[in-house]
Amino acid sequence: MNADRLFFLQYGAERVSKNLSLAGGRHHLYWEPLFGALVETREGWVLLDTGMSRSAHEDPVNSAAYAAGCAGAPNLDEQWHLYPEPPEGRYNWGNGENPLETALAEIGLVPGDITLAAVSHMHVDHSGGIPTLARAGATIAIQQAELDFVRSGAVGIAEGFYEPDWSEPGTRWRMLDGDEELAPGVHALATPGHTPGHQSFRVELPESGTWVMAGDAADLAQNFLDHVHCGSYAGGTDADEADARASFQKLLAVSRETSAHLIPGHDQVVLNAVHHPKGGHR
Ligand SMILES: [Zn+2]
Repeated sequence: MNADRLFFLQYGAERVSKNLSLAGGRHHLYWEPLFGALVETREGWVLLDTGMSRSAHEDPVNSAAYAAGCAGAPNLDEQWHLYPEPPEGRYNWGNGENPLETALAEIGLVPGDITLAAVSHMHVDHSGGIPTLARAGATIAIQQAELDFVRSGAVGIAEGFYEPDWSEPGTRWRMLDGDEELAPGVHALATPGHTPGHQSFRVELPESGTWVMAGDAADLAQNFLDHVHCGSYAGGTDADEADARASFQKLLAVSRETSAHLIPGHDQVVLNAVHHPKGGHR
């Protein structure tokens, strides 16, 4: 069973050190895009990842954490050279008052049009649209291990996890346990390591074939070029890093088997290259 079509939505960007994205990477800053994949299926619109909320963009503890992560980088003063160009003087940037609504409006949709939203993980740059979508009636799919992790209280905004994103009253959760079909042609791929319940996604389309969205299991094209897994593990143990390494191998294996369009989670060059044609990828 295939999905019908696919759009990529850019919600904003964040300035982070390359060493978060690449195990053993240099402390060198990139603007990395915040984006999601919007898939039309026979059962309605499915949104994969939701960006950062306006309130998190403006949260001083969150901003301080981003600034601290950038401190001391040799290229701190360098200008960004790709499009879109984020405003100066910020470490994270969201497009419009509500970045999720801004991005959906570009396709002519509103949050109430989304049937199901799945988040790769609960980091603030992926989960920010959950409250808006939950209020609009969408079901939110997440790995059970991820929700258990954030609800344990072990992490907060200083670590990049923003509690309002998982605390909206009335949120209808769909709990996942490993690989699962989310909707016709849309599949979750469990890829833990970056966070305990991280997941990637596989989308099957009738003309362009298989697409794999790595999420933060592999942020950059350079992860695949250099054969290097992600550089940060929210769980903080050696086992988490081992999981991240195994998840990276899983993404490569699935992508080889299916000749997939393999899309890293935070690469502006790749995102610009696959930005959907008019009417979406089919
Ligand atoms: Zn991320």
